Amino acid sequence: MKFDWMIVGAGFTGAVLAERIASQLGQKVLIVEQRNHIAGNAYDDYDEHGVLIHHYGPHIFHTNARYIWDYLSQFTTWRPYYHRVLGVIDGQTVPIPFNLNSLYALFPPRYADKLAEQLIQQYGFNVKVPILKIKEEAEKSGQADLKFLADYIYRNVFHNYTLKQWDLTPEQLSPSVTARVPIYVSRDDRYFQDSYQGMPAQGYTALFKRLLAHPNIKVLLNADYREIAALIPHNRLIYTGAIDDFFDHVHGELPYRSLAFKFTHHPEDVQQAVGTVNYPNEYQYTRITEFKHLTGQRIAGSTCVAEYPQAYRRGENIPYYPIPRDDYREQYHRYLEEAKKCNPQVIFAGRLADYQYYNMDQAVARALTIFKKNICAGETV
Ligand code: FAD
Repeated sequence: MKFDWMIVGAGFTGAVLAERIASQLGQKVLIVEQRNHIAGNAYDDYDEHGVLIHHYGPHIFHTNARYIWDYLSQFTTWRPYYHRVLGVIDGQTVPIPFNLNSLYALFPPRYADKLAEQLIQQYGFNVKVPILKIKEEAEKSGQADLKFLADYIYRNVFHNYTLKQWDLTPEQLSPSVTARVPIYVSRDDRYFQDSYQGMPAQGYTALFKRLLAHPNIKVLLNADYREIAALIPHNRLIYTGAIDDFFDHVHGELPYRSLAFKFTHHPEDVQQAVGTVNYPNEYQYTRITEFKHLTGQRIAGSTCVAEYPQAYRRGENIPYYPIPRDDYREQYHRYLEEAKKCNPQVIFAGRLADYQYYNMDQAVARALTIFKKNICAGETV
């Protein structure tokens, strides 16, 4: 049997492209996945206690794009869910991202009133303002209280979390990362403000099973594409694995950050007040997530996961996060030049092939765009 397409990787990028090609073009697709399951990093499954857990860290779906929500809604119904995160700061548990409720939880009421008034007067209400912007403007205008607040958040919420997460100081990361850290001048405690938020009602793996149910799609698990690509005839390739692997690291290994996950089961039904609690300043882990908050599952006992950031070592652990530094981006661009030479026989897409952190909706958007522009309209990448 000859396939029109071989797709490497059964995560969101690969699965959405397979679905589009199979259902809209009627072409035959083989997905090759090195893991023993579909769904990539969004994979979920029931643990030995019957609790639905996310194997590669907590995944919460959110998007502002109606077309992405509508597209995925063909393959799942949704459980309405607004993620909430608390951070342990100076012994208090306060909402993250830092907002007006956090302010009132940490400071005496009259001082919190004063800070809140200044923030609202200067920036308005229900707006996210980068703390570096507040700091810069407060320094220029001599507003000592706002400068104090910006420094406080930077030091207590951001600095040590960044060190743990990346093993780098904020100054060593791309300036765009630090520039994005906001104060949310609002009483809205939701972690995301997107128009569409929810969890797939039967979980992500069930969503992927429906995505891949088309008779033109075959899935081969437990197979590295390099072992079988030459053996299985196909016309074109879509590659969603690591781009530096594809080119045998000719321009050096692209740096990633990895994670170790420690799952714990508890006999009590509820462990923490919200889905995720961040620990910016204490312990080796960055955060703990309790899955039942996310999934709404009703079952005795509860399972949590703690995330321990780690150096990435090829072949030993999983590359999760491209490290956001401008020099690494330049290194990636050398691979992009190689990728262009493979066009149109090979299409590169996804968080590993683009060396770019994507939320799930962004991975879906990337796949839908590639389908429309590069596959249907034949534009080059
Ligand atoms: P992946 O899901 O990684 O899929 C790529 C697949 O390719 C993998 O299954 C891999 O095994 C396979 N592969 C690679 N090389 C080969 C090879 N040589 N042969 C065969 N197969 C290969 N996004 C959100 O929107 N909300 C969240 O709350 C959220 N939380 C996250 C938490 C963590 C800890 C992490 C790491 C990510 C989170 N994300 C979240 C991002 C989300 O995981 C990504 O958007 C999504 O995984 C991207 O899909 P992808 O298909 O590009 O990559």
